[in-house]
Amino acid sequence: MRVGLDIGGTKIDAVALDDAGTPVQHARLATGFGSEAVLSNAARAVDILRDLTGAAFTSIGVGIPGLVDPRLGRVRHAVNLGLDDVDFGTALSVRTQAPVAVENDVNAAALGAYHLLDLSGPVAYLNLGTGLAAGLVVDGELWRGARGVSGEIGHIPVDPRGALCPCGQTGCLETIASGSAIARQWPSEHAYPAQALFAAADAGDLEATRIRAALAEGVAAAVRILVLTVDVESVVIGGGLSHVGRPLLEGVRQVLRDWAASSTFLASLDLAERIRLLPEGLSVAAVGAGMLVRPARETVA
Ligand SMILES: [Zn+2]
Repeated sequence: MRVGLDIGGTKIDAVALDDAGTPVQHARLATGFGSEAVLSNAARAVDILRDLTGAAFTSIGVGIPGLVDPRLGRVRHAVNLGLDDVDFGTALSVRTQAPVAVENDVNAAALGAYHLLDLSGPVAYLNLGTGLAAGLVVDGELWRGARGVSGEIGHIPVDPRGALCPCGQTGCLETIASGSAIARQWPSEHAYPAQALFAAADAGDLEATRIRAALAEGVAAAVRILVLTVDVESVVIGGGLSHVGRPLLEGVRQVLRDWAASSTFLASLDLAERIRLLPEGLSVAAVGAGMLVRPARETVA
């Protein structure tokens, strides 16, 4: 049996997978803050699953936000978790006595979505969270690229007169179509600010309508980029903004259909038919983490 951990800003979502990759037990606990707290809670999640299943685990996979070096299991710059340059894989392996693979959470979710939704063909998981990024699964495996940057399409500039992005560029896709883009343009106390935005737009607020339209166009642009670069068969939309549900999906589909109506080239690509929403309640990042294979390391003498 294998374990997958999705370590988020507030909670750790843990699953035990059988040999076929089917989740058989779940556990959820608070993440904590700082490397000691996060590591001990991750180890506790593994203990809980061990008690629930009575099984010995052959491997543990971790999906975690921030910059991750999957080859070394190192986590750099996971600000929300209070982790910076931590050898997370080794530290968790010592505590759990099992091999540990570590991966960026969006990549882990891409792998999980691919398996849980039983998809085929190249697949992109488009995460609309605080930022915008995609994980790519090609031939059933994560496609990280030469330096792990593939899928970071949130930092493709699309508006030269747009907002300054934390990455230093101007008008990145992420400044238009992400949770932080909504929070900046439509501040709200609502648990899901995007829902507040959509409600205001439905009520006829012109500014909310403009922001919502730009959001749909931005997500549609992300879909177009993913299809034109990787020719993914499916784009699965997940992350915090996907809580808006069908109104978001339909808004994006409408933009894609409008583009198709004025471009026979885009019409031939069936973009609107390639997108789908991640169903609620699936632990895609935890399941995907459990399917990670730890990359071979060079032997240290
Ligand atoms: Zn940027």
